[in-house]
Amino acid sequence: MREKFIEFRNVSFRYGDNEPWVLKNVSFDIYKDEWVAIIGHNGSGKSTIAKLMNGLLYPQEGEIIINGLPVNDKHVWEIRKFVGMVFQNPDNQFVGTTVQDDVAFGMENRGVPREEMILRIEEVLKAVRMEEYRLTEPHRLSGGQKQRAAIAGVLAIKPEVLILDEATAMLDPRGRKEIMQTVAEIQQQSEISLITITHDLQEVVKAERVIVMNNGKVWDEAKPREIFAKKDELRKIGLDVPFVAVLADELIQNGIMIKNEPLD
Ligand code: ADP
Repeated sequence: MREKFIEFRNVSFRYGDNEPWVLKNVSFDIYKDEWVAIIGHNGSGKSTIAKLMNGLLYPQEGEIIINGLPVNDKHVWEIRKFVGMVFQNPDNQFVGTTVQDDVAFGMENRGVPREEMILRIEEVLKAVRMEEYRLTEPHRLSGGQKQRAAIAGVLAIKPEVLILDEATAMLDPRGRKEIMQTVAEIQQQSEISLITITHDLQEVVKAERVIVMNNGKVWDEAKPREIFAKKDELRKIGLDVPFVAVLADELIQNGIMIKNEPLD
């Protein structure tokens, strides 16, 4: 049995007493070592979920447990040590003058010894395939490279969960592909849980499980292929099934491809 890492138990949230509820009775579990994609149209509550996962916000109702600890004032600092987040805008995430300095920053804040820092910088830049950009100034990088450098900075603090909140939204298709490949490799090669938050169904293909949000509620929770099979219902909630999945479905319907054959 896999161990639960993040538990949302009947979580409801609103941004103020007179504001509408943006999450309504949301429950799900995310296991250690699992890749879960959270998908939904704009405004469906995904970013709010991300902020609740590292205690930037607290729910008014229900409970969130991370690694056995309830998210509250008492545990929030402990929880943030093992929750790594990468956000949408790569330009807002840099503090260092070189990629290497930037990666070091989070470790310096945590008092990681210098020798250990040097080793970790090498390790994480290799993991995101950015070794050759160690001394590059962040503003000279492409959008995709910036996000990979940001991921390296987060990995350097050895999180147990890596959360990407629309981290590819500002990138071109190539940059998106690079990021998705990078995080897929990291997740396969380490014990880390990966949560990718997106409005683009294309990005959920390789996840183990998909949580679909709609208007602040969990609309469905299943494997990517099971989700894609609901393409007409998905369209109604503002989500477009990727062309490749529609094509595969048609090939199966017409007997050209056999069901259960892997898509990739
Ligand atoms: P998503 O990430 O799926 O686009 P969000 O979690 O950002 O959704 O937003 C969910 C809802 O909460 C939206 O209706 C949004 O307008 C509202 N919202 C988000 N942030 C705030 C805020 N700081 N104050 C008030 N309402 C907010």
